[in-house]
Amino acid sequence: MLQQTQVATAIPYYQRFLARFPDVMTLAAADEEAVLVYWSGLGYYARARNLYRAARMVAECPGARFPQDVAGLMTLPGVGRSTAAAIAAFAYGHSHAILDGNVRRVLTRAFAVPGYPGHASVEKGLWALAENLLPGEHIEAYTQGLMDIGATLCTRRQPRCGDCPLQTICKAYLTQTVPSFPTPKAARVIPERTTRMLLVRQGEHWLLEKRPRRGIWGGLWSFPEIALEDDPVERLRVCWGLNAWPVSTLPPFRHTFTHYRLIIHPVCLAVGKRKALTDSGGHLWLNQADVAAAAIPTPVRKIFKLLSQLTMDDTNSVFGSE
Ligand code: SF4
Repeated sequence: MLQQTQVATAIPYYQRFLARFPDVMTLAAADEEAVLVYWSGLGYYARARNLYRAARMVAECPGARFPQDVAGLMTLPGVGRSTAAAIAAFAYGHSHAILDGNVRRVLTRAFAVPGYPGHASVEKGLWALAENLLPGEHIEAYTQGLMDIGATLCTRRQPRCGDCPLQTICKAYLTQTVPSFPTPKAARVIPERTTRMLLVRQGEHWLLEKRPRRGIWGGLWSFPEIALEDDPVERLRVCWGLNAWPVSTLPPFRHTFTHYRLIIHPVCLAVGKRKALTDSGGHLWLNQADVAAAAIPTPVRKIFKLLSQLTMDDTNSVFGSE
């Protein structure tokens, strides 16, 4: 949960998740959809799917035992070299180097390592450095200490060098060049994509479509999408046999992913009759009352929140009264 996410944000999700899935076997026995519900709103859903797949892999191992070494841990989905090393240190006391984002920052500053850490050659040098620094004993304390310095003292903005135990050896601090490290990535323009979301309402129900397993919001429920140039009413009639009526729009809004920005244009439609759709379970009519418990991505949740804030008059003017 902490990959790309701050501790304070993750804590309530972590607590709810652990309460529902207290051990590997419980997680492995659950439906993926149930797991995604507990991740809904946290983003980066591949983490949830990886965790779930990892639990299933562990459950299928003889005796349902976790892999016992770094190589075995790295076979689990979502577990890379650094995560595997941290697990091996804390769970088994094995001595392996870690190099997550925080540790990269500490090392580039403490040793004044030039170059963007995401470049392969710089990263290779940082791994070598991390391995050379490994202590002969107390690997758990060393690993935890390194992670804690990165998370609490040597932070991205405003590092607390005055409180840092590395102060007397930190090259960046001693040369007053801390703001120069780590070297930032060359700026790039984030591309934008557009989509039109169809907010199809029938009474208290909303039409949702299951996202493909791969790609953004994989496996979650979202409003059907079409290209901006397509006609929503015609599309609903042709693809799903739905007769929708007067269309209005909500203001477009943007959602930013790591690699691009998505500009969402919501279109509001109403249909008289809710009908079962013949697409082998890829759609559902979600009751407004069930939104909180549904596995839906953050932008869709935002739209539902916006809709719930509309007064009845607003709603009728946006969707037409029945
Ligand atoms: Fe980071 Fe400052 Fe500590 Fe150096 S002295 S490792 S820059 S917090």
